[in-house]
Amino acid sequence: MSSSRQSARESLKRLRPYVAGKGFTEISRRYGLDPADIVKLGSNENPYGPSPKVFEALQNVSPERYPEPEELMEGLARYTGSPEEMLVIGAGMDWVMDTLTRLFLEKGDRTFIPTPTFSYYEILTVLAGAEPVFSPLGPDFRIQETVPKEAKMAFICSPNNPTGNALKEEELCRLLETTEAIVFLDEAYVEFAERSLAELVSRYENLVVGRTLSKAFGLAGMRLGYALMPEWIAQEFCRAAPPFFGISSASVAAGAAALADLDFMNESVRKIRMERSRLQKEIRSYPSQANFLYLKTEEASDSFAEKFLQKGIIIRDCRSFRGAGENHVRVTVGTPEENDRFLAAFREIRR
Ligand code: PMP
Repeated sequence: MSSSRQSARESLKRLRPYVAGKGFTEISRRYGLDPADIVKLGSNENPYGPSPKVFEALQNVSPERYPEPEELMEGLARYTGSPEEMLVIGAGMDWVMDTLTRLFLEKGDRTFIPTPTFSYYEILTVLAGAEPVFSPLGPDFRIQETVPKEAKMAFICSPNNPTGNALKEEELCRLLETTEAIVFLDEAYVEFAERSLAELVSRYENLVVGRTLSKAFGLAGMRLGYALMPEWIAQEFCRAAPPFFGISSASVAAGAAALADLDFMNESVRKIRMERSRLQKEIRSYPSQANFLYLKTEEASDSFAEKFLQKGIIIRDCRSFRGAGENHVRVTVGTPEENDRFLAAFREIRR
């Protein structure tokens, strides 16, 4: 066997790998805790999970068959009110974004990324050999600048992860009308917000709206996302997409069943919004339109988050978000019991 190694692409050396929220296994091993005693509020998951119909549908999955997405596509068209010709799917919204960047970005291209925001936009840009142009969010976490002329894509997240605020329609229209770049509007958390801006896809040829079943629909583990886009982009998308769009028979079945039970989703969103407002009042975090709260900490955010971990409560230290600084954490809204555990720890730690 040869002892020499091929080197990975030089241009990727500056990339820091995506940092996910900590998991039950890691924390139970590190602190010797029973996983059942751990409260996981670091990954913006939905503690209510999916509709019971999802579990029934999973019983009838045929693992030996490749996935057939028709029923899922029909469900998405009904839910979004968008024709199927303007919808695409992928293994999580992450994969939808991955396909889009493979489709549009080449070496030397630029992308516009207001920060702090979801770090995968930067990773995808660099993977494509392109250059991110960052723009710090201003007061109230509003976008300050228009998309620079040379940018080929812009990544806008609303409600924004990690800050929790949502973009206004006028702000999005201004961005869209002052650029020819593809504007990717990430609406992963939109069901928790007052409104969606997805209807604008039918008015603008350069708008793509990303969505997911990971959050409001409680299917994070199934990896299922989608996007609404003008027909011309949807047609091109298929060229760059992996076989079966990266989805699985299980994720398709789960997604179709979840979309057939909107009452369950709406009820869990209602409960999360109620708890969000209870938590927000007590911890005095920034206002949020998502299922998480962004909180400024007096002490360094890593040591603040560590104190919660020692009590079996996982929250997110935001230092890995470019532009978030050293004094912010993000807390996912859990069930009332989980939030009580968090609040009890918060009172002790803040004392
Ligand atoms: N966008 C944002 C803003 C997110 O926070 C996440 C989940 N961490 C995603 C996209 C990815 O979602 P999915 O699980 O569908 O890949």
